[in-house]
Amino acid sequence: MTGATLTVSGGGSLREVLIQGIYLVSSVFFIIGLRGLSSPDRARRGMGQASFGMLLAVIGTLLQQDIVRFDWIIVGLLIGSTIGLIIGRPLWIKVPMTSMPQFVAISHMFGAIAATLVGVNEYLLYGPQLSVGTMTAIGFEVFLGALTVTGSFMAFGKLQEIITGRAVTYRGQNAVNFVLFGTAIVLLGVVIITPGLAAAFWGMVLLAGILGVLMVIPIGGADMPVVISLLNAYAGLSASAMGFALNNNLLIICGALDGASGFLLSVLMCKAMNRSFANVLFGAFGAVTAISAKSAAGLTARAITPEDAAVRLAFARSVIVIPGYGLAVAQAQHILRELADLIEKKGGTVRYAIHPVAGRMPGHMNVLLAEANIPYDQLKDMDEINSEFDRTDVALVIGANDVVNPAARTDPSSPIYGMPILNADHAQSIIVLKRGMGSGFAGIENELFFDPKTSMLFGDAKSSLTKLVAEIKAL
Ligand code: NDP
Repeated sequence: MTGATLTVSGGGSLREVLIQGIYLVSSVFFIIGLRGLSSPDRARRGMGQASFGMLLAVIGTLLQQDIVRFDWIIVGLLIGSTIGLIIGRPLWIKVPMTSMPQFVAISHMFGAIAATLVGVNEYLLYGPQLSVGTMTAIGFEVFLGALTVTGSFMAFGKLQEIITGRAVTYRGQNAVNFVLFGTAIVLLGVVIITPGLAAAFWGMVLLAGILGVLMVIPIGGADMPVVISLLNAYAGLSASAMGFALNNNLLIICGALDGASGFLLSVLMCKAMNRSFANVLFGAFGAVTAISAKSAAGLTARAITPEDAAVRLAFARSVIVIPGYGLAVAQAQHILRELADLIEKKGGTVRYAIHPVAGRMPGHMNVLLAEANIPYDQLKDMDEINSEFDRTDVALVIGANDVVNPAARTDPSSPIYGMPILNADHAQSIIVLKRGMGSGFAGIENELFFDPKTSMLFGDAKSSLTKLVAEIKAL
């Protein structure tokens, strides 16, 4: 890794040694912070460690000798910190947890804009004189950066419903994308060999921007998190390339961390949905809004009153709660905790089955339940809990839909076919809390709601849980 920058002893000033030392410590904090994020009980500390790493990175950068004036830097710092504070303080502007994916998408866009602008600036300053190595780094930085800017903006637009969340497709779409991608890579090659050819540089930037749009529009909203983490990886690689261009070790390390973790997250999410990477990126998932045959068969769902549901829960020996997106919408996590405490007081056990794509972002349910101080050891991953449903009295499905849809196992025509689901239908009985018969993110019917073992408690999850708590207390 760039011996040139690390060989501070070879003529480097004390200031340079100090900066590289600060960068090294900062990188270590990023790595241990990232490690902390892999488990809910260490996540908060991990965030603190990563933030401290970022503080060190900023300090180290401000010590750089190349800085000629501080006024614009201070203005930028003030603007950035103010925006961060406003968004970060829940009392001022609260970004609801359910809007986190689009918030992450737009944050990536800003990161990618920064990387692209730095690359463009380097090119404008030194264009024709750039060495092959530096031009390669700048070329990749700008190519991946521009693609991430427009791609992230499209992902944001889809999730925020500014544009349709459905897959937008046309004949020969993959071929068009492939040709554009190939042309952009050829232009990148040309500009690396002849950096003075500005038309090739700008052509590549333009094509990368168009590709960002075209690569994201055929992907349905339900797959957006995979796309966002992939764009995150691109943004990281772009930052890493920027590190090579600027000879900055910290950027190289952080960019590589970001790139690798974003890529791994995408792979893990594909695995959770039992989809291949290629299928997510080129399969136009979400284009079909198939309604399962079961609903057409005229089956009716059985409603239950809060009184009856409370009796069943109070006398259950084992309950598995399946939280989903609706729990987050209703913000019913605290009252859920109260209900669980009451069931346990009556002698039952309560566990929580966490599907990897429940809610609208990775780890959504873990974060939600952690807010209500639900003990981590009661949160069970899908693989760990799925065999337990057969021995469970009540599966309590709260605002979840797609993640318990048996069509994923049985209906090859379903858009979610092949996605592993939680085995709620294996429990002795199932109680579902939702407002009506609305579909989930995939826009399809759920035959679980028509299962003879299933009882539907209709209403907003928070109000239904409040009624259940009152009823159990009154028993
Ligand atoms: P779903 O989106 O499948 O279903 C949520 C259900 O909640 C709806 O059917 C809705 O029914 C109900 N609901 C909504 N508001 C309330 C409320 N206030 N009270 C009670 N119920 C409510 O959620 P799941 O968690 O089961 O599945 C997640 C889906 O989102 C998957 O398809 C996944 O692929 C996708 N996805 C996942 C992401 C992730 O990273 N986790 C990101 C983006 C998409 P009703 O209207 O009848 O109340």
